[in-house]
Amino acid sequence: MKKEISIDAPIFIPKLSQTESAFLNNVKVSTVIMDAHIVAWRPKIANKIKKSVDNFIIDPVTNYFVGKSYKEKASFQKLNTAPSKPYKIDDLLTNEYLRKEEMVWLNIKNQIDEGSSVIIIPYIYTDSIDDTRFGINLSMISDAIKLIKEKNIKIPLYAMINMGSETLKDYSKLDYIVNRYYEDFKKNISGFFLMFDQLDCRKANEDSLMGLAYLTFNLSNNKKVFNLKIDDFGEVLSVISAGGYSSGLAQGESFSAKSLSEKSFAIGRRHKEITYVPELFNYLNDEELRKMKYSCNCSICKNGLPDGYNPTKAHFLEKKLERMKILNTITQGKRTNFLILKIVEAIKSSKEYNDKYLLSIKYDFLYKWKNVLEKSKNWTYSDKIKDEVDLDHLIEEAKDRISKEQNE
Ligand SMILES: [Zn+2]
Repeated sequence: MKKEISIDAPIFIPKLSQTESAFLNNVKVSTVIMDAHIVAWRPKIANKIKKSVDNFIIDPVTNYFVGKSYKEKASFQKLNTAPSKPYKIDDLLTNEYLRKEEMVWLNIKNQIDEGSSVIIIPYIYTDSIDDTRFGINLSMISDAIKLIKEKNIKIPLYAMINMGSETLKDYSKLDYIVNRYYEDFKKNISGFFLMFDQLDCRKANEDSLMGLAYLTFNLSNNKKVFNLKIDDFGEVLSVISAGGYSSGLAQGESFSAKSLSEKSFAIGRRHKEITYVPELFNYLNDEELRKMKYSCNCSICKNGLPDGYNPTKAHFLEKKLERMKILNTITQGKRTNFLILKIVEAIKSSKEYNDKYLLSIKYDFLYKWKNVLEKSKNWTYSDKIKDEVDLDHLIEEAKDRISKEQNE
């Protein structure tokens, strides 16, 4: 029997690549997320990971199936849900059989067959709420709900919101998303995964960060919300929503929509040189760490510094898990103040290190993160957002528009 992911306890969900399963021998990880094409490509490793965790989550990576980059990646060749040609947006909109029975059902079935603890409803990336793709995503949620009822499947359903970051600056758009995703489907959906394009929370402006926190909070009333491919700001969001967040161990702290359509090389942190310093919510290079005589007490560093690429990743994982463990010893109502305190300490330490050792550790982003936490204290779930939308009408409108465009 699949266990539901505990709602009271914010968690860090490592997104593991095929070489990182060995880390699970050292630390207890409750929940792991893997991409469907990696599971298909490296089934033995996926199986090993699945056996060592409580919750194994598979991202169906259906956002790739409307672009062309997946055709060039070796890891997608074993994934039987990947279409032989990318799906056309218009076809997904107008051809219900293709959308429901192929795109939606095949990708749900694959998650069930591979033993995923939850079902992530197939999704595609959309820049904005005005895009046809936004409506297709909503249709796929309806399709998924019908399918699991028809087939009497009892695994919890989650919706993925994979969007452009511009949306985060506009509260009326965020309210619209909450209406469409939360209000319309709350009876049948257990929660949400969020993934926004090109969001670096150490560089993002405060409006975007506030918007993401606002969205996360408003989707989290009795639902679990997990932010994916996100840096330490995920911890801030976890405190606000009691859900959790996820990233890779050496890269994958932001999502790039570009990678769906273009062959791209992953840009990770240069882990040989850059070490995660949880006390500062930041990364520092070896020279900085040596100057300030930094040492880490984790089981990898043993009161020293991580030595090499894999130890740096293992250190990152252990420290991320440790921070969430500490949060879990604190009751929900007190977590916000606790994290604010940690952020204030990090600002103070960063300044002190900079003065004492002539470093230039950045900490301006921490003021923004703190402001988000302060503001979130006043938020309550409201039922102000209630306008209804007729999905069929929206689809008809879009169909009309396409046929007009085709006739021009
Ligand atoms: Zn360490």
